Amino acid sequence: MNNPFKSHQPLEKGKMKLIRKFINGWLQDPLVYCNSCGIPYFPSDRDCCDNPQIGNNLQHCWAIIIQNKARQKTRDNEYGSNKDNTLRIGASLPEKLIRDLEQYFHENHKQKLWNNQKEFRLFLKSFPQFAICERI
Ligand SMILES: [Zn+2]
Repeated sequence: MNNPFKSHQPLEKGKMKLIRKFINGWLQDPLVYCNSCGIPYFPSDRDCCDNPQIGNNLQHCWAIIIQNKARQKTRDNEYGSNKDNTLRIGASLPEKLIRDLEQYFHENHKQKLWNNQKEFRLFLKSFPQFAICERI
């Protein structure tokens, strides 16, 4: 399994550059945990929760990217745009990634992950793997 962001390295500056750098580091975290309940994985007879999804950051991230790709295909016209043809934007990324990114920006840059809709759109343009619509 490869880092899905390594091959795509556009010229970026500012926040998106910081986010990409953070994600590339984040994906290398070997910690194995459950994506449903969030607790670290320990081999045992009992499941940690009703819907155990065990893996590390990279594995959880891949699972979501594959899911998003499937959604982009099937929902392109049905849900991607509305009657006025303005695009509806959806995102799906690992919950832990959002939490860790928010914490990173709060602690290191004293700001929110996304300050406004514009930044959020820019994020989805920079990381189309996390977008549910095909076009942004
Ligand atoms: Zn669990």
